[in-house]
Formats: sequence, structure tokens, C-alpha cells
Amino acid sequence: MNNLARVVEFITEDKEWNIPLLSSFLPWDICLKISKIFLPKKDVDDEVFWALSPDGNYSVKSGAQLLINQKIGLNPSVEYLWLWKANLSPKIKKFLWKACNDGLPTKARLEQVHVFTPQQCEFCGCSLETASHLFFQCRFTIDILHQLEADYGWPQIPSSAILGSFRANLQCCVDALGIPKTCQLAVVWWFVWFTRNKVIFSQEAFNVRQICILVHKFLAEWHVCGDNTARIQTRSDPQLLGLNSLSRRCAPWVPPPEGVFKVNFDGSKYSDGRTSFGFVIRNHAGEALLTGCNSLPSDWSITQAEAFGLWEAIKGACFCNLPRIIIEGEDLETPLGY
Ligand SMILES: [Zn+2]
Repeated sequence: MNNLARVVEFITEDKEWNIPLLSSFLPWDICLKISKIFLPKKDVDDEVFWALSPDGNYSVKSGAQLLINQKIGLNPSVEYLWLWKANLSPKIKKFLWKACNDGLPTKARLEQVHVFTPQQCEFCGCSLETASHLFFQCRFTIDILHQLEADYGWPQIPSSAILGSFRANLQCCVDALGIPKTCQLAVVWWFVWFTRNKVIFSQEAFNVRQICILVHKFLAEWHVCGDNTARIQTRSDPQLLGLNSLSRRCAPWVPPPEGVFKVNFDGSKYSDGRTSFGFVIRNHAGEALLTGCNSLPSDWSITQAEAFGLWEAIKGACFCNLPRIIIEGEDLETPLGY
């Protein structure tokens, strides 16, 4: 038999596969698969038939199922089927899908395609903004999750999901927390991305507490109304009005009038659980009269840390006998006299 043998030459007169002949050319496992191919007893014209659909016609669904079964996607380590079935807003599903496929235009990703911008993270100033940093390591994201844990008992990023790529870290979350809790984290990640874009493109930013309010309201609307009405309404939200100004990183410090002193305070929580506070009291020339900072118990929330920072700052102002002060925190700007 020559090298241009045709299929028909391997079919007997009884319309059966000639297995002995096949096996002289092909491995036995291939012969076995060929032997399972149905041969009609009567001569019929050949036609194209898509075997994965009952009617023989190709469908996108059956094609996608083939890809999933064969795991020939770009990132076979992540099982994506759960993502599309998850109880998430479609835009968050698409966002996750993009992040998994390295498709978010982070600064690190942009540089790979020769779009050069400053590489620092907009939130913490880290030297390289990657998806893994933004969503798993950035202090801003960690603070949001800690606040959501304190307010609503939300899950935290497992310790196993720190060092890998976004894809690998996402899989760590699914393995350690399960899909529903990973979906909660995904909502936060989407809001972090939303906020990051606001900072870059609109010079508009939100602090940790504002993001928590947005996340909570968005999820409440999503569960009640679905995606069509669950929109981000930052400008008309009464809980955010007056707070929707530039964040602490973007807002310049404004000195108080002469004879008045300004108290700035803050609380923070780190990824390893440490909590701390700090404050500074300055005069109209920006000169610091008194500063203070210290660590706090690790089970304290950011709110408790900020409240303690304010308390210590007021005690400091009393100690210095300051006649009039303005208190300015992340969410608070109140002139006080005493
Ligand atoms: Zn960062």
C-alpha cells in the first residue's frame, strides 16, 4: 500500500473497518478509536457533521465546552466555569476574566506593550502597579477588606494568595475560601479598579470608608434589582456627598488661619494585622507643634484606630493649651473652640 492510501481502502465489503489492516499501519489505541466510528451500510454522500451537537450543526456552546474539556485555554490552571456561573454582576465577571488573562491595563501591563507611564501604585506609592499588587498586596485594598470585615464580617485574602500572579492568587482564594467568599473579594477588587481609574482619569478619589459604603450599597442593589439598576452613584449619594472630594493623597493640606491650629489624625491597619494611629498639630505657617503616633492592639479596626488617634490629638491640644483648633481627619473637618 502506498503513502496516499484512502480511507475506503480500510473498509471491507461488508462496510466494516478492516482492523487487521489498520493495525499494520497504526498503533492499536488509534485503531480502537477508528473502529468506533460509525459506518453506514448503504452508500451515502459525505457531509460535514459536528459531532458535539445532536443535530450535527456547530454551536458556540458546544465549541466552548470542547475548549473547557480539553483545557486548551491560555491559563489552564484556573477553572473558569465557576466564574460565569457565579452570582456576580456581569461587569464584575468580565473584569475578573480580564484580570485572569492579564488583560487589565495596569501600569506594568502597559509597559509590556510599550506604553510608558510612571509605574507607581496610585494608592500606596509602591514601585510597580501590577494586578497582583493592586488586589492582593496594596495597603489600600487590605484596609478596605479589614474595614468590611469589621463592619460586615467579610472574608480576608488568605495568606497563601500573596506572592503569585493574579490568576494564581485567585485560585488560592477559591481553594481556601470557596467561591461565594471569593466573589465577595471580587466585588472589592472591582471597586479598587474603579477607584484607581477615578484617581488617574478624573483626579477624583475615595477613602477606605467611602469604598466600603459603595461596595455595600452596590451589593444590596444588585441582590434586589440586578445589574441594570445597581450602578455606582457617587455624586448623588447622600452618604457620600461632602466626602466625595479628593483623597488624602490628592488633597493639599490647607493651613489654618493665624491664631488657629489644625489637627490632622489618621489610623491605619496593615496586612499582617498591625494597627496604629498618628496625629500632627500645626500652626498657620505649617509648623508642627506636636506630633504623636503609636501602635495599637492588632484586633482593633481602622475606625477604632482613627478614633484613638483623634482622642490622643485632642489630649495633645489640651496639653498645649491651644485656644482654637480645627480637626481634620479623612472624613472630618470640624472647627472646634474651647
Ligand atoms: Zn498599592
